[in-house]
Amino acid sequence: AGSGKFFVGGNWKCNGTKDSLSKLVSDLNSAALESDVDIVVAPPFVYIDQVKNSLSDRIEIAAQNCWTGKGGAFTGEISVEQIKDLDCNWVVLGHSERRHIIGEDDQFIGKKAAYALNQNIGVIACIGELLEEREAGKTFDVCFQQLKAFADAVPSWDKIVIAYEPVWAIGTGKVATPEQAQEVHAAVRDWLSKNVSADVASKTRIIYGGSVNGGNCAELAKQEDIDGFLVGGASLKGPEFATIINSVS
Ligand code: PEP
Repeated sequence: AGSGKFFVGGNWKCNGTKDSLSKLVSDLNSAALESDVDIVVAPPFVYIDQVKNSLSDRIEIAAQNCWTGKGGAFTGEISVEQIKDLDCNWVVLGHSERRHIIGEDDQFIGKKAAYALNQNIGVIACIGELLEEREAGKTFDVCFQQLKAFADAVPSWDKIVIAYEPVWAIGTGKVATPEQAQEVHAAVRDWLSKNVSADVASKTRIIYGGSVNGGNCAELAKQEDIDGFLVGGASLKGPEFATIINSVS
């Protein structure tokens, strides 16, 4: 891990029921968690209020998506104002499932990021390459293009955490090696230094996501430019998520 405060996010995706999430919340409330870590969980929208009202204040809440602007006649969407109304301070944007399953593009994602930041909500900005892009030697090109779309849109970098999530590692059990992740994280930091500023490059947390679990987190956390994790599957298991949070090194 680098010098910034370690950041661990749990992306619950489209999982859970009132009962299963109540059990997860109680497991998290009773877990011993390192104090020097920012912890954020992203429940499905419909359970945010339940989780906010039962989860320890030690853990912040993120939404998994948001609309591009103020609410209104946008059926099925959730506005940043509504997210804030539930005391949610973060939103996950650019997740590979939204890019590749739902079809969100860089420009649309950039618009959402700009609006969220202007409304003072933090953004977990996800980037990452597909397997065929990695195999074609395009990992950096793809990540830099996605990063540039965020950089072109956002008003400031104070409330952005970048999540590098190689798509081939998400939900597949195929984690990137610590060296593979470190290589991209270092390149992202270098890109920020050259294209935004040295200050933003040194202060922005770059977290890794893709099949992180209780068994592989410690080795990944040792890497110089890995400042935390975005965790999917393993964040649905309280004790294992606690192990990942406590892997800060
Ligand atoms: C994610 O979706 O952000 C993720 C990293 O999922 P998983 O940990 O299940 O690979």
